[in-house]
Amino acid sequence: MRKVVIAGNWKMNKTLSEANQFVEDVVNKIPANDKVEAIVCAPFPYLASLVEKAKGTNLKVSAQNMHFEDNGAYTGEVSPVMLTDLGVTHVVIGHSERREYFAETDESVNKKTHAAFNHGLTPIVCVGETLEQREANETMSLVQTQVTEAIKGLSNDQVAKTIIAYEPVWAIGTGKTASCQDANEVCAHIRNVVKSLTDEATAEAVVIQYGGSVKPSNVDELLAQSDIDGALVGGASLEAESFLQLVEAGAK
Ligand code: 13P
Repeated sequence: MRKVVIAGNWKMNKTLSEANQFVEDVVNKIPANDKVEAIVCAPFPYLASLVEKAKGTNLKVSAQNMHFEDNGAYTGEVSPVMLTDLGVTHVVIGHSERREYFAETDESVNKKTHAAFNHGLTPIVCVGETLEQREANETMSLVQTQVTEAIKGLSNDQVAKTIIAYEPVWAIGTGKTASCQDANEVCAHIRNVVKSLTDEATAEAVVIQYGGSVKPSNVDELLAQSDIDGALVGGASLEAESFLQLVEAGAK
């Protein structure tokens, strides 16, 4: 049985006191069952504080990006060594906003995915098409390429532990959600791609999230789909109450 993974991606939002308050508000209310995993993906400056507050609870703390090198002359960057040293457990890699605004490529996504495993971090690898690509019928081939490149060179065991987030770019922050059937079709395709590159057991183990305007009112239907194992949530993860509602939906 795959776990349901609900990850709140705050993006570039909140002050330190707001971030701390959020974690204080949710931390003792995360259901203590092994059906659901709850993660907050916070800006770098808050990670140390949030890890401290979440210690010994069921809430995990993730970074939203990292460099693939351990250290070096990369001004402004943060390395996997730094993240594990803080007690961070997950890292978002290849979010469409990083692909669009910060020159993230399939190649750097692959390097970062390897770096994550080399340092004991669980990567949440994002893939997904733009509206133009969807309209040109390129969704399936694009997602296939993104997944193939992202997991290239990983062992099957590492692939099984990778979280893949399918986030159609046109559904992010727009209020437009892919229909559950469309989202599930792409997630099932991703699982098939993983199967063709590894084996059946690995494909069955890999957690595939959907992301793009997920909220408490649509999460149940999305999670009821055969190949959607969780959600990567932006806007609706910013308020403690709606984040908890999403996590509770995952624990059902
Ligand atoms: P929204 O939930 O705000 O659409 O954002 C989705 C997302 O990009 C999560 O990483």
